[in-house]
Parts: sequence; C-alpha cells; structure tokens
Amino acid sequence: MLHYPQLLLRFRQRRRSTYSPASRNGAPWHRSTTALQDPHRIEARPSLIARIRSTDLLICSGSELEIGWIPLLLTQSGNPRVQLGAPGYFEASQYVVKLEIPKVIDRSLGDIHPGGNPHVHTDPRNIARIAQALEERMVQIDPANAESYRSRAKSFLERWQAALARWEQQAAPLKGMPIVVYHKDFSYFINWAGMREAGSLEPKPGLPPTPAHLADLLDRMKIQPAKVIVYSPYNSPQAAEFLSSRANIPTVMMPFTVGGTDKAKDLFGLFDDTIGRLLATAK
Ligand SMILES: [Zn+2]
Repeated sequence: MLHYPQLLLRFRQRRRSTYSPASRNGAPWHRSTTALQDPHRIEARPSLIARIRSTDLLICSGSELEIGWIPLLLTQSGNPRVQLGAPGYFEASQYVVKLEIPKVIDRSLGDIHPGGNPHVHTDPRNIARIAQALEERMVQIDPANAESYRSRAKSFLERWQAALARWEQQAAPLKGMPIVVYHKDFSYFINWAGMREAGSLEPKPGLPPTPAHLADLLDRMKIQPAKVIVYSPYNSPQAAEFLSSRANIPTVMMPFTVGGTDKAKDLFGLFDDTIGRLLATAK
C-alpha cells in the first residue's frame, strides 16, 4: 500500500487471513510510506520493489503525486497484477472531484499536477468515496470474500458518516479563517471547512521557502492578516516559525495523515486531531 496508510489501517482487519497474504510475515497489508516522509519523494528502495513484486493491490493517491517513484517501482517489479490499468492498481484521487486543475500546464510554475491537486484525503467526505471505490475493487479482485468486504465497508461507512456530522459541527468556528499553508497539501481540508488560504510558504509548489518569498508574504499579511500557519510532519518547521515570530500568529503542525501525530492513530483520530489543533488556535 503506497501513500494511503490511513486507508490501509482501516481495511487491515477486513482481509486478515482471507485475502492471499502479500508479505512473507503473513500480514496482508504493507504500508510503504509514513507520515514523516514526503509523499512526493520516496526512494525506490530494493525492499519496496520486492514488496510490489508480490502484491495483489497497490493503492496510491494518484494524480501524479507519486510520479517520481511509483512508475519506477512498477517497472522494476515486473508484477502484471499492479501495473497501470490492471485491477490491482488503485488511484484514490480518481474517485473524487479534484481541486486546482490547472488551466495551463506550465512547469515553470513549479510542481504543477495536470490532473489537479492530488492531496485528496484531507477532505473527510473524500475518504467515504474512496472507501466505497476500494470496496468495489477488492470485491473485483477477490470475489470469494465479497461478503466480508461489503459488510466491513458498510460498518466503516456508518461510523464515518456519524463522525462526519460531528466534525461538521466542530469545525464551524473555522469558517472564513485565513490560513497560511506550507505546501498546497491541505487544499481539500480548507475547502471542506470553508477556511481561506492566505498564502503558502513555498514560492511555487514543491520549491522550498526562500527569504525573498517569506518577506513578500509578510508584507501581504500586514494588509490581509492570517490567523495561523500550518505545516506537515514532513516539512521543516523553520520557515513557519520564522514567519510566525514576525507576523505574531501561531504555527500548527497538522498530522496530514495517519501517524502524523500521536493522536492521529487512525482515520478518525486524524480528523479529530486536525480539527482540534486548528480550533485551539481559533480561540
Ligand atoms: Zn503536493
């Protein structure tokens, strides 16, 4: 499983011992990235290639997020079950409405993704859509266990809808709040919560913050103040702290994905903690 550890954790139980185990230790799922790794830049290690060689289902965000490493892994693995277009290749972002689809593809503007912003999992509504699509895919790959996938997905989605209603209420005070991001990896969350992106620390997507850009951002914030600066566990906090001390607003490290903070132990904890951290600054 690539870059979707949060889904991995949720679906782990549903196929224990039923689906043909993909890894030698008998655990059917393998999480190949962690919240502390930059999902745009993962090293195609030999151990990862070996995992993919024996896997039945590869799950990634897609929309070119992993373009720097998954194609290489797929070629090296030679596993026909998970190649592009095969049932074992699952791109989560294909099942949601994407944001920030560029009108012009100009690579001089930075790491532009022609298919839109790939960080779709930060909108909790998207998780439900992806879970349903994943359920269908697993039934397709492993029809013998269809019933088990269906009933577990149903139970997950019921709990998810209840949590979603709770999060919508909790996040209400965030509406309209101006927020500075490090990278455009929270666009879907911002859109869901009705927040307003007031700038990003990266001068262009994928390019590290520069002193000139931060000075520029600080000037803009004097006219249009922001409330908080957020970054992900895989970002260095330096630029956020620099801006925070000058603009006199707090920084918040968001979990970004499962495992990003102690409280983000699963998908439910991910959104509980993300909303909780932002609310703490809204007071
Ligand atoms: Zn990105």
